[in-house]
Amino acid sequence: MISSPCPTPPPPTTRANPSPSSHFLRQIIESDLDRGTYAGRRWAGSPGDAAHHGAGAPDPAKIRTRFPPEPNGYLHIGHAKSICLNFGLARDYGGVCHLRFDDTNPEKEDTEYVDGIIDAVKWLGFEWNGGPDALPYYASDYFDLMYRAAVALIQTGSAYVDEQSAADMQRNRGSFGHPGTNSPWRNRPIADNLRLFAQMKDGLYADGAMVLRAKIDMAHANINLRDPAIYRIRRATHHNTGDQWCIYPMYTFAHPIEDALEQITHSICTLEFEDQRPFYDWLLDRLIETGLLAAPPPRQYEFARLNLTYVITSKRRLAQLVQDHHVSGWDDPRMPTIVGLRRRGYTPAALHLFAERIGVCKSDNWIDYQTLEGCLREDLEHKAHRGMAVLAPVKLVLSNWDEVMGVGHLEPCTLPALPHVQGNAQNDAQPTVLRHFVLGREVWIDRSDFEEHPPKGYKRLFVGNRVRLKGGYVIECTGCIKGADGQVTQVTATVLPGTKSGTPGSDSVKAKSAITWVSVACGVTAEVRLYDRLFVDERPDASGKDFVSCLNPDSLRVVTAIVEPSLARALPDEKFQFERHGYFVADRLDHTPSRPVFNLAVGLKDGWARGRSGSHVQTS
Ligand code: ATP
Ligand code: MG
Repeated sequence: MISSPCPTPPPPTTRANPSPSSHFLRQIIESDLDRGTYAGRRWAGSPGDAAHHGAGAPDPAKIRTRFPPEPNGYLHIGHAKSICLNFGLARDYGGVCHLRFDDTNPEKEDTEYVDGIIDAVKWLGFEWNGGPDALPYYASDYFDLMYRAAVALIQTGSAYVDEQSAADMQRNRGSFGHPGTNSPWRNRPIADNLRLFAQMKDGLYADGAMVLRAKIDMAHANINLRDPAIYRIRRATHHNTGDQWCIYPMYTFAHPIEDALEQITHSICTLEFEDQRPFYDWLLDRLIETGLLAAPPPRQYEFARLNLTYVITSKRRLAQLVQDHHVSGWDDPRMPTIVGLRRRGYTPAALHLFAERIGVCKSDNWIDYQTLEGCLREDLEHKAHRGMAVLAPVKLVLSNWDEVMGVGHLEPCTLPALPHVQGNAQNDAQPTVLRHFVLGREVWIDRSDFEEHPPKGYKRLFVGNRVRLKGGYVIECTGCIKGADGQVTQVTATVLPGTKSGTPGSDSVKAKSAITWVSVACGVTAEVRLYDRLFVDERPDASGKDFVSCLNPDSLRVVTAIVEPSLARALPDEKFQFERHGYFVADRLDHTPSRPVFNLAVGLKDGWARGRSGSHVQTS
């Protein structure tokens, strides 16, 4: 079932001005602030162990949150939710949010992705680590401290080197309802464990020959506490530390330590880590006992990851779409990546609104894709300048033009760029920006604005009907010319002089409707990319489904359109409403004034809701 955004719980009673969209995480933070849970913390200005922070000043940040992406791909809409949540909470509660690259897995990571993630967080409007010039943190910078943490665990009898084969280890883990079996190496003397672990680090053993395991309880009901592996041997070059290490910490060991070294207070992650929380707490309690890490420890809280219909939010699968050329790259405007959404015309404000609107839930749910599209429309409605564009052009000739207006006459016309915002009583302060264009004997109109045999209720061009050329004159349709194939190649009409918009005579003749148009004299040819959903299936990555077979074969159509001059002068990334068609953006990479290229961001209304493909954009 597709659920709507999370219900908003009643606001907490502890604050005078509760946030308008309170949720369980806000309530936890507010309660911690009220109780002073983290009031005594110190912060030395950089991540470090207990001794480091102990020498620092009281932490000026009331809370510390973090966004910890693994740099193994570009960020997607799900990450945008997590970014808005973590950075937003820090902002709202006088805290600091850390951007930390969780780069403890040497094989999959790349500096290209590091740069992409930095750009995405900046584009969303956030600063990390307490200042505009602060550098992001890298988990790999903590490898030395993680090694020390592992040694501290061994020294206190809480970790051991296990030489069982991977298969034996798996078998001896037991299963749900069946306890595991202790490893024969579990009670190895501490001194031997210390020596072996040092030798693992020094490269004396082959990959996979042994692992370091936490010593907890092989019969624990939570399988994650059955002596989880915490360090493995892996000869792989790391993007940050090169070949310095041949042992790497497991994610579940590294992550709590990273949080603690950074003095994180609220470590917010997605629900799949719920079962890991006991290990998170166990590990930090042990390391605080040894004196290595500062108290109080960070606490982990889980929220439901974003699932969006018609969208895949898995970096691995998105990478496959790129590698197999189903899309043009990570920034293809059909991709749910932040770079893709940006190229599609999404704004940071629209994504913030989306994150706010969907809320934060404790259980998995699905958000309808239309919620995302609605947020973009809402943001652009009052910001995007209007313009006329003809997406499926056919020529309209005003046969009496030369006679009544003068041979070759071009009539200057104007329309406001923001008709809803400017020129109304509430917005007197805002000067009206006008778009200038001309009307002449020949204009381009959309093919669908003429019907030889009009269906009932059709109000646009058909023989004998009068319509207004928006911002210009009323015209009366007189006929059409067809090619050998029966297709209409030209529509003919006569202009009714004295009916120009904005003149006293404009109301003298009744027009059934107004149509958009661009004159042949000033229209500019543009490439328009009409994007549609990338998948036809509501849940393309539901378990067991071949998501590639769910791709929408019509997710991109490219048309040659004619646009009014103000649109051709667009700056790359500038957004417009093409009147009657939808919101479009000048492509960030390909658009130039001499070769305009626009991407469909979102239609004016949702076409899918009405059982039609496309985003309510007609081109035929
Ligand atoms: P993927 O499966 O796409 O690689 P991930 O969770 O492995 O996602 P990370 O780079 O580890 O990606 O994630 C960084 C942060 O973003 C994590 O805190 C994670 O919880 C959060 N995150 C990732 N995907 C989503 C999502 N769909 N909704 C909300 N938060 C998400
Ligand atoms: Mg991950």
